[in-house]
Amino acid sequence: MIKQYGDIMHRCFRCGYCKLTEEYTAFNCPPHRVFKFESYSPGGRMWLTRALLNNEITNSEHYREIMFSCTMCANCVEHCIFTFKDDLVNIFVAARGELVNAGVIPPGVRDYLKNIQISGNPFKLPATDRDKWANNLEVPEYTDQEYLLYVGCVGSYDEQGQKSSQAVAKLLLRAGVSFGILGKNEICDGNEVRFLGDQGLFEYLAKQNIEQFHKLGIKKIITVDPHAYNALKNDYPFFGGGFDVSHYTQIVEALIDSERFELSGYPVIAAYHDPCYLGRHNGEYEAPRKILQSIPGLKLIELDNSGENGLCCGGGGGNFFTDILGSGEESPARTRVRQAHAAGVNIIAVACPLCAKMLTDAVKTEHLSDVLEVFDIAEVVTRAF
Ligand code: SF4
Ligand code: SF4
Repeated sequence: MIKQYGDIMHRCFRCGYCKLTEEYTAFNCPPHRVFKFESYSPGGRMWLTRALLNNEITNSEHYREIMFSCTMCANCVEHCIFTFKDDLVNIFVAARGELVNAGVIPPGVRDYLKNIQISGNPFKLPATDRDKWANNLEVPEYTDQEYLLYVGCVGSYDEQGQKSSQAVAKLLLRAGVSFGILGKNEICDGNEVRFLGDQGLFEYLAKQNIEQFHKLGIKKIITVDPHAYNALKNDYPFFGGGFDVSHYTQIVEALIDSERFELSGYPVIAAYHDPCYLGRHNGEYEAPRKILQSIPGLKLIELDNSGENGLCCGGGGGNFFTDILGSGEESPARTRVRQAHAAGVNIIAVACPLCAKMLTDAVKTEHLSDVLEVFDIAEVVTRAF
């Protein structure tokens, strides 16, 4: 309920620190970068939502677009200077929730939620296709292995996402990790559903997953996707789902540390693009970097807007599916790709199938496919064998 945040919203005085990086050197709120109006910044969203609560404005089409253009990247949580900063994303989710409950949401959001309800995934593909990514790999179904490898909708159905899932599975197989997948029985984790404001549907999905995990005796889970990692780790405990959840980079870093892989080398200049749901939402900045640094011949450079100042790829908070930010010249993904190219990078390494897709599309749009490639870190490691 947005009303519970009424007392907080009036304390935002639109100083604007939240839309910048730590050193206040660059704008870092994706919708503000794209649309260039204060109303699209975190402070602007706070004031608009407060005005809506006070009946000074209506939930017009424009208000809805502003609210759903937020990528939930949490740059504002990192950089707002006030004690209420931890609630900023919660406020924006609650404001979306009011629109979902009132049935006034942009068509792209409506379609996304409908597809999850009807097909169980945003791609409108049958559940029987969910394990196609694992064709030609000897990945076992989960029975009683140590880990469940949870892949997620993008890692299951999207062509680029499937490459991430395949690479992660190959690494786990090569290291002899005891793991299995749910295959056709995997259920959407619901992270984007929650961040799009449909709390009821999210709870339904979370409870379905938890029930299945409990029934199979699953205790430890590795996720390919940081979005799933976020939901399973931080939200499922509220519904009785307390699991030991790791992102695959954390497992692979430990495997490299204990010399379960022999890496011969991969001579490239690489930059790591921090996914918001691994970095700012969950504080994991080191494991992906350590993996890349352990690859002989790979030179890792830091781009501007990295780590806690990471520039969102533009796909968070449901935008991967709803595309409210669009793919114009100022889109975060295209900005990121130009930045990497200017820095002389050969590959952008990512740790999220959504970032992989967003940045790969941007490389093509920027006509840089001949000089710049995007790989999931798991793919980078497979290239170093
Ligand atoms: S959310 Fe925080 S940093 Fe942003 S304008 Fe409001 S008070 Fe300033
Ligand atoms: S979460 Fe990210 S996109 Fe949303 S208002 Fe904050 S900085 Fe902007």
